[in-house]
Amino acid sequence: MSISKIGVVGAGTMGNGIVQAFAVAGYPVVMTDIADAALQRGLATVSGSLDRLIKKEKMSTGQKDEAMAKISVSTDLSALSDCDLIIEAATENLDLKLKIFAQLDAVAKPEALLASNTSSISITKLAASTKRADRMIGMHFFNPVPMMALVELIRGLQTSDETYAAVDEVAKAIGKTPVQVRNSPGFVVNRMLCPMINEAVFALGEGLATAAEIDEAMKLGCNHPIGPLALCDMIGLDVELAVMQVLFEGFKDPKYRPAPLLVEMVEAGYLGRKTGKGFFEYGK
Ligand code: NAD
Repeated sequence: MSISKIGVVGAGTMGNGIVQAFAVAGYPVVMTDIADAALQRGLATVSGSLDRLIKKEKMSTGQKDEAMAKISVSTDLSALSDCDLIIEAATENLDLKLKIFAQLDAVAKPEALLASNTSSISITKLAASTKRADRMIGMHFFNPVPMMALVELIRGLQTSDETYAAVDEVAKAIGKTPVQVRNSPGFVVNRMLCPMINEAVFALGEGLATAAEIDEAMKLGCNHPIGPLALCDMIGLDVELAVMQVLFEGFKDPKYRPAPLLVEMVEAGYLGRKTGKGFFEYGK
């Protein structure tokens, strides 16, 4: 199973990052989205990101031009018909993803592999909705994709060894370090990271310390590069809450219950950096 052409569904934060990572590594990539405006924004983001690498002298203008030339865009999923691996990075919504995978199953060539970048949806469930469950896998990249080395490769119950091996190889070929994870709520990183952030919100709600003190303590005491509450503001409080709900519902274990203050802040619309206010304030 050899992978030479890549398709990406969704040109948002993760989609355009994935496209950049493959294009820079020399793979032709087709980026699709429902909206042309999203595709243009995605292309502009990749271009801006490569410009920053040129400024830092990590890339030449010639290399940028080569990478950009590898990228083609379309609002039509049938543009993915000759791709060997198609990575779905559309909005986190089960019904939407089921619809996309049904369409991909129909347009992708029979031997093509399908992957999802989902943060929380069961790969086994997505795979079961296709006629190629053995050729379906989770590829969970981290944000920002061009910078972050890890990709969690999620094996659904049906994922074949050949599929795993091919995707493991291509992940390494673009300079990522894959870690094999069994399909389970939150996979590995979010299973541990999100409860830690949630516990920081409990501590804040209980008045153990201020937000700044909690973050300072974790930075100096654990050598974390960023405090858990500032990180939650970056991730988005709504996203953190959604992951805790997935863990809580998936394991039916009260240790994953969302902190009441997190729920209330989401109700108030304090979602972190994207709204200008979360545990800290951000100038608009
Ligand atoms: P985003 O909102 O930035 O981008 C989603 C894109 O999907 C949008 O451009 C939207 O137009 C497009 N889209 C919606 N419906 C579509 C359809 N039917 N066909 C094609 N495109 C469609 O979201 P994101 O943050 O890039 O997240 C994408 C996926 O990656 C989600 O599953 C999310 O859970 C996962 N993820 C996100 C992060 C993160 O830090 N943001 C990290 C890891 C994984």
